[in-house]
Amino acid sequence: MRLVIFGPPGAGKGTQARLLEERRGITQISTGDILRAALEEETPLGQKAKSYVESGELVPDELVRKLAEQAIADEGYDDFVLDGYPRTQQQAEWLTKFLEEHEAPLDAVVSLEVPDEVLVRRLSRRRIHDETGETYHLDHNPPPDDVDPDLIVQRSDDEPETVRNRLAVYREETEPLASYYERQDALVSVDGVGNIEEVFQRIERVLGASERPA
Ligand code: ADP
Ligand code: ADP
Repeated sequence: MRLVIFGPPGAGKGTQARLLEERRGITQISTGDILRAALEEETPLGQKAKSYVESGELVPDELVRKLAEQAIADEGYDDFVLDGYPRTQQQAEWLTKFLEEHEAPLDAVVSLEVPDEVLVRRLSRRRIHDETGETYHLDHNPPPDDVDPDLIVQRSDDEPETVRNRLAVYREETEPLASYYERQDALVSVDGVGNIEEVFQRIERVLGASERPA
C-alpha cells in the first residue's frame, strides 16, 4: 500500500506512521526524521538544511525531493507511508508525476484533523530520544522507565515561537494540498483527537474501506 499521512505539526503523523510500520509492515518515510539525522551527523545536506529546520521554515523543495525520491525507490515503490512529505504544491505535483512514472499511484492520503489548541498542547509536551529519534509525549505516551532520562530531549523547533511559525507555514504552504488530493479523490479525513489507539483504529477502518480492488 502507498500512503501519505497528512496534517499539521503535532497531528500525530509520525506516531501513526510508526504504528502502520510496526503493525502493517508499511515502511515509514519521514523527511523530518531524515533531515534531523542529517543535521545531527553534520552531513552536507544537514548543513544546508539546518537553518530552515531550526527556524521552522520549509527546506527548499529540491533538497527534500532527493530524499523522498531515494527513500521511495529504496522501498521498490510500494508499501510505504510518507510522513511529512509532500508539504508544498510543487512537492505534491512532483510526487504525482514520479509515482505515475513508476506505475505506483497513491492508494490514499490520510488527513489527520486536529484543532490548533490540541496541536500546541501536544507539541509543547513532545519529547524525543536523542539517539533513536523515538517520539514520546510527557502525558500521553511517556518514555519507558528503562530509558535514560538524560537522553529525553525537546526538539529545538518545538519551542513556542518556532511552533507558531511552523503552524503559519503549514496554513500557508501545506494545508492547500488537502484540496489538491480531494480533487484526485485520494483524501480520507480522520478525526485525530482521541488516544493514540483510537486514532489508529480509525485509520485502519478508512484504509480498509479505501483499498482498491486488485
Ligand atoms: P512535524 O512532525 O512537527 O510535522 P517534521 O519532523 O515532519 O515536523 O519536520 C520538521 C522540519 O523538517 C520542518 O519544519 C521542515 O523544516 C523540515 N521538513 C520536513 N519535511 C519537509 C518537506 N517535505 N519539505 C520541506 N521541509 C521539510
Ligand atoms: P506529527 O508527526 O504530526 O508532528 P507526532 O506523532 O510527533 O506528530 O505527535 C505529536 C506529539 O503528540 C507527540 O508528543 C506524540 O507522542 C503525541 N501524540 C500523538 N498522537 C497522540 C494522540 N492521539 N493523543 C495524544 N497525544 C498524541
